[in-house]
Amino acid sequence: MPPPSEVDFQDLLGILRLSHKYDVGYLYKRAISYIETIYPTSLDEVRQLEPTTMQLVDPLDIELQSIVVLQEVGATWLLPYAYHNIAEYPLPVLESSGVSWEDFPANKKAIIYRLGQLHMKATERLFHALTPSSNCSCSDACNLAKFDFLKRRGSPKSRTDLTPFREWQFRHRRHLEVALCATCLAQSRAQYNTVRAEIWSELPANCGLEKWDILLQQRDTALEWWGIQLVRTSDR
Ligand SMILES: [Zn+2]
Repeated sequence: MPPPSEVDFQDLLGILRLSHKYDVGYLYKRAISYIETIYPTSLDEVRQLEPTTMQLVDPLDIELQSIVVLQEVGATWLLPYAYHNIAEYPLPVLESSGVSWEDFPANKKAIIYRLGQLHMKATERLFHALTPSSNCSCSDACNLAKFDFLKRRGSPKSRTDLTPFREWQFRHRRHLEVALCATCLAQSRAQYNTVRAEIWSELPANCGLEKWDILLQQRDTALEWWGIQLVRTSDR
């Protein structure tokens, strides 16, 4: 059964919790298949769900709730991106969001605080990967293009840099790419993709979880227990 086209996320978490508690396999499958479209488990899926803008505040309560529910039903493979999403909120937004955040368990808050710091470092690593110093035959022009690209990031005081996996964080990249020579363009793209893959592979450990391959084995085991076949979007 395909995921419902539109569904209230909070209702869905309720369905997941109840289907797990009362062993209702088809509802569990329906809920999981939908949540997997929200919390991807591969970089390919992240690319597919790229939004044009970052959503803030409204779903925060529910996203916090989702961490608790996913943990409760043992859907460990969905937790890295669930944590990732919350760590995209600037701290003042999180800390002023009210009861949900205040009631959120301290050990899970600690993960989100740490992840927020790591998101900023990851964004920095990706900007660095895109702009290594050029030593090609037209290095002056290529280095100038990189300088211009970095200058467009704006003042560090006005940035949050919390969204390393969102392409729009690097939205001026097209200007950079058209200005680079073929050698520097290939190098910039290759380094960016390498570092992005590294950051993705580090995400579960940064949330205090097992590596992706273990989490995906846990997914297989959980679905097998339910007798469910569920193909990941990235495997289709
Ligand atoms: Zn060059």
